[in-house]
Amino acid sequence: GGLMREQVCTYMCPWPRIQAAMMDEESLTVTYRADRGEPRKPFEKNADWDQRGDCIDCKACVVVCPMGIDIRDGQQLECITCALCIDACDDVMGKIGRPRGLIDYDSIANDERRRAGEETKLRLFRPRTLFYFGLWGLIGLGMLYVLLTRADLDINVIHDRNPLYTTLSDGSLRNGYTFKILNKAREQRTLMLHASGLPGIKLKVVGSEDMGDSPDPYFTVKPDRLQSFRLLVTVPPGTLKDDAADLRFVLKEINTGQTASYNGLFRGPGQ
Ligand code: SF4
Ligand code: SF4
Repeated sequence: GGLMREQVCTYMCPWPRIQAAMMDEESLTVTYRADRGEPRKPFEKNADWDQRGDCIDCKACVVVCPMGIDIRDGQQLECITCALCIDACDDVMGKIGRPRGLIDYDSIANDERRRAGEETKLRLFRPRTLFYFGLWGLIGLGMLYVLLTRADLDINVIHDRNPLYTTLSDGSLRNGYTFKILNKAREQRTLMLHASGLPGIKLKVVGSEDMGDSPDPYFTVKPDRLQSFRLLVTVPPGTLKDDAADLRFVLKEINTGQTASYNGLFRGPGQ
């Protein structure tokens, strides 16, 4: 970024292209009033302003421009409409006693109207702006809908890579998982985990020895937290007919019945 400086904004950022595609001749943008500024000349005391333009060629607008452009050359793709040149030029106009706004927000159409000696107009409501307004409104509503209806409970189950399975002394098969519960609600929640897909499944949460092997263990998850648990899933001997079977984990909130689920695999040696 430091080496590339404004090249990143000009050539890598998509915004200048999007902005250029969205604008038309009535769009307000940072504009140099050439009709008022030209012919530019260095400042002279007691100058006859009727015989010259208001621009004193001090280059204050160029010096402050973060994109290194001269707005007096017309509208350019590089301009990020930061308006620093407007402030710089207004300061200069104040010092030399000329009206502010030599660089100001204006449209190409107004520039042409001025040259033709016509009244300038501000046309905010045009088919294009109404279309954009409707489009952004719809996008905003969509985002609001997603925000208001987003799930505030989520689970993620990651199977152990090594070992993929363990055969216990009685021939039962055991798989280990890292089990993550994301509680986005502002209150603590009590949740029950259920796994299905194979007969006789027993679940054990490591560290909750008192719970023992249980078909449906309970969890308490604090508000606004992602909590991680080690989970061991055991099935009786001969249950797994292949080297893997689908396993569905369903987490259910006790009070509301809200659920979140995850589809995983249970692995074994195969027959
Ligand atoms: S700051 Fe204003 S007066 Fe100075 S060069 Fe820029 S446009 Fe001209
Ligand atoms: S608005 Fe900002 S980027 Fe555009 S010419 Fe003026 S100072 Fe430069």
